Amino acid sequence: MLEEDGTENEALKDENQDVLTSDISHLNSQQDISVITDENGKVLLTRLEEKYLILPMTCEYKITSEYGKRTHPITGEEKLHAGIDLVGEHHTEILTIAEGTVTYAGEQNGYGNCIEIKHNVNGKTIYSFYAHLSKIEVRVGEKVEAGDIIGLEGGAKTDPNPGTSTGHHLHFEIRTASGSGHSIDPRKYIDF
Ligand SMILES: [Zn+2]
Repeated sequence: MLEEDGTENEALKDENQDVLTSDISHLNSQQDISVITDENGKVLLTRLEEKYLILPMTCEYKITSEYGKRTHPITGEEKLHAGIDLVGEHHTEILTIAEGTVTYAGEQNGYGNCIEIKHNVNGKTIYSFYAHLSKIEVRVGEKVEAGDIIGLEGGAKTDPNPGTSTGHHLHFEIRTASGSGHSIDPRKYIDF
């Protein structure tokens, strides 16, 4: 569980549910690596905790749409909302959630300016996707670190390439493979 000051106090356990250490108070939202040590301080395991991937923006934000199936207000059609919508300050900086490599940076139908980044989390490949950006600050093939600024929030009518958007916000996805159609609930990886 996250405490009010942002530290994590849940004990780390191995696959047999044995507590390895509960001293992970050094973790914060900007630090997504946990280190497991033995009683002599020897490092046994360093791993990227799934839930410690950082938020894609640092300002206050409101979630206006969750991941999941929703009924279109006009067509009545049930459709998957493949990401989570965060409304932050207009043009706030968008940060990459973990280290990785940019696999897409450009305009896409409906999404406007968008970026896809490939990550390795605990040996698993996942992709993060950021849409409705007013500005893109990375290129395909570029290596990024967690927290790097990759673009600016957008999606307002006055923004370049807003895509299908009723107001400025970040549409954020986690994908198990590159491209649309592979989304999973971003809350599996990030505590919004
Ligand atoms: Zn969305």
